[in-house]
Amino acid sequence: MQITGKTKLLGVIGDPIAHSLSPVMHNAAITHLGLDYIYLPFQIKPEDLQTAIEGFRAINLQGFNITIPHKQTIMPLLTEISATAQLVGAVNTVYQTPQGWAGTNTDVQGFIAPLKNLRDWRKTQVLILGYGGAARAVVVGCQQLGCQEIHVAGRNPEKLRDFWQSWANFPGLVSIHPWEQRASLLPHMDLVVNTTPIGTTPDVHASPVDLSVITALKSGAIAYDLIYNPAKTLFLQQAEQKGAIILNGLEMLVQQGAIALEMWLNCPAPLAVMQKSLSSYQGLPTIVKPLQK
Ligand code: NAP
Repeated sequence: MQITGKTKLLGVIGDPIAHSLSPVMHNAAITHLGLDYIYLPFQIKPEDLQTAIEGFRAINLQGFNITIPHKQTIMPLLTEISATAQLVGAVNTVYQTPQGWAGTNTDVQGFIAPLKNLRDWRKTQVLILGYGGAARAVVVGCQQLGCQEIHVAGRNPEKLRDFWQSWANFPGLVSIHPWEQRASLLPHMDLVVNTTPIGTTPDVHASPVDLSVITALKSGAIAYDLIYNPAKTLFLQQAEQKGAIILNGLEMLVQQGAIALEMWLNCPAPLAVMQKSLSSYQGLPTIVKPLQK
């Protein structure tokens, strides 16, 4: 990659930002495509967000990703927000329009990508563990897949109720359950999604579901952990032993980035290159089959 006077800028904003894998993945794709772009990390404090967005316009940034803590707070600063981002209540990708900055949320399509061709999702039941930001994208993803029942289990009754109330415009979309009830729900589920950080590095010996409960998984069920480090969490290891189909968060991460890149560059993103850049950067083995494109 050679930076020239014509090099165009892309980036990701967050606070902190040093942990972000997006620069690795996007710059690998840009290099592979031979385009005169560079993708940079920007650490922006919450109180500087508006100034930063104005500055991005001034320096003609072509587009950017957003991570914690700006995914919601950026929304009033945008001139347009996609229907998907409005449903999720968070924006993770911003692009230029003649009117200003437009925002969308590519996590939903990223989450769906490894699932959509696995089975017919009508008449399926889903259990989502956790009610944070990622769980919102998972709910919208499951709705788009056409899942029949979406159950959410969480540990804090007040936050759980707030989560449920946030879907008030979609009566019956989500059922909520106290954290303790996940054991009795699990045997009926076709898909179980861990959206909590339980099991991520360094706490790799933790699982959101006890082994004794995992053994009750239905035959053919899918266990999906949004965590990608480690590649195979304890939750996935145990579900695999029980014969479940397992998916980690790596493909979601790559797919959400690829959709953003395609919006900015208007050309197909090299998914396999992006996935490989992360695997080699983190030493993460791939447990989903390599992406083709
Ligand atoms: P978040 O907004 O902080 O939500 C985390 C959720 O987990 C909250 O509901 C939290 O409940 C719950 N939780 C945390 N510790 C728990 C515990 N010990 N027992 C029960 N529940 C617990 O975080 P997020 O942005 O949704 O991200 C969640 C995970 O998904 C992270 O591991 C993140 O890396 C991963 N992720 C992956 C991708 C991808 O592309 N693969 C994308 C987004 C996120 P409380 O609020 O009560 O603490």
